[in-house]
Amino acid sequence: MARYPARRDEASAPFFDGVAQGQLMIKQCGCGRLVGPDRADCPECADPSFEWIKASGDGHLVSWIVTHNRSPEGGTDTEVVGLVELAEGPWLYAVIQGTDGVALQEGVQLHLDVLHPEEGEPIPAFCPR
Ligand SMILES: [Zn+2]
Repeated sequence: MARYPARRDEASAPFFDGVAQGQLMIKQCGCGRLVGPDRADCPECADPSFEWIKASGDGHLVSWIVTHNRSPEGGTDTEVVGLVELAEGPWLYAVIQGTDGVALQEGVQLHLDVLHPEEGEPIPAFCPR
C-alpha cells in the first residue's frame, strides 16, 4: 500500500519512539484528561502541555472504510482504515491489519500492531483479536 511516509518532528518524537518499541503513546493533560497523540490542546481545559503515557494497545472498532487504490504494478491495493476507541478512551484513525473489511463489525476487539513502511517512521496499526 502506497502512503505518505510518516516523519517525526520534535513534538511527535516521543510518539514515534514509542511505536518503534511496539508501544502506543497517548497524551495526558494536567487535569487528567487523556487524548490521542495528535491532539494539540486539551478539550477540557485548553492546556497545550501534555505528558506522554503508554496506552495498553487495546481498543475496539468504532467504524471503518475499505480503500481501493491503483497499485504501481497495475492491480488494485485494498486497505482497511478504522476509527479505533482505545481502552483508555481516546479515538484515533489507524490501519486495520489482518482483514479485508468484509467480516468486520462495530465493537470488534483490536490490539496494537506496528507497520514498518519502507520509508518513514514505523506507524501504529491494529489487528482484530
Ligand atoms: Zn486538561
